[in-house]
Amino acid sequence: MSGFPDSVEQLIKEISELPGIGPKSAERIALYIVAQDKQRVDRLVNAIKVARENLHLCPICFNLTDKEICNICADEKRDHSTVCVVEEVRDLFAIEKSGEYRGVYHVLHGRIDPMNHVSTDNLKIKELVERVAKGNIKEVILAMNPNFNGDITALYLQKVLKPFGVKITRIATGLPKGTEIDFVDSVTLTMAIKDRKEIK
Ligand SMILES: [Zn+2]
Repeated sequence: MSGFPDSVEQLIKEISELPGIGPKSAERIALYIVAQDKQRVDRLVNAIKVARENLHLCPICFNLTDKEICNICADEKRDHSTVCVVEEVRDLFAIEKSGEYRGVYHVLHGRIDPMNHVSTDNLKIKELVERVAKGNIKEVILAMNPNFNGDITALYLQKVLKPFGVKITRIATGLPKGTEIDFVDSVTLTMAIKDRKEIK
């Protein structure tokens, strides 16, 4: 037993389930929150609620947005003929943070993962094929993670996109096997995108 009141114990438990937060940090954050005045706590709770309630997936690229379409798809200065396909929204944010990429995205929301019963039907692959089939896309950059599931996902996408005659490239050729794209530093990621290789 920790000696905390049950309600604080519950708060610590909830916070410790957030990504990247260990038990010690969860304790510190919980104790910080309960020491704040009520208005401050209301603002925090409200910010979480509003962010969650207004968020949905962009109908074009499946990025998160609180607008009708996401900021990237809505940006006319970006190159809409180049689509970078990523596994997760956090990969998109990692590439955006690296600051060099000026095309648009397509978020699969996962990767083919036979061990965990994730097949092509569970991912936004049909939607990607439909986008490419419209004919306005010149290049599809596959930015899957360099691991087994990323590789089979990239192979599958290459196969289904090939009939459309679009240029297909893969980044991460310089990335060590097993690294996760959202953990790679911006410089390495920028290089990995610049050094992308066409796959035929
Ligand atoms: Zn979008």
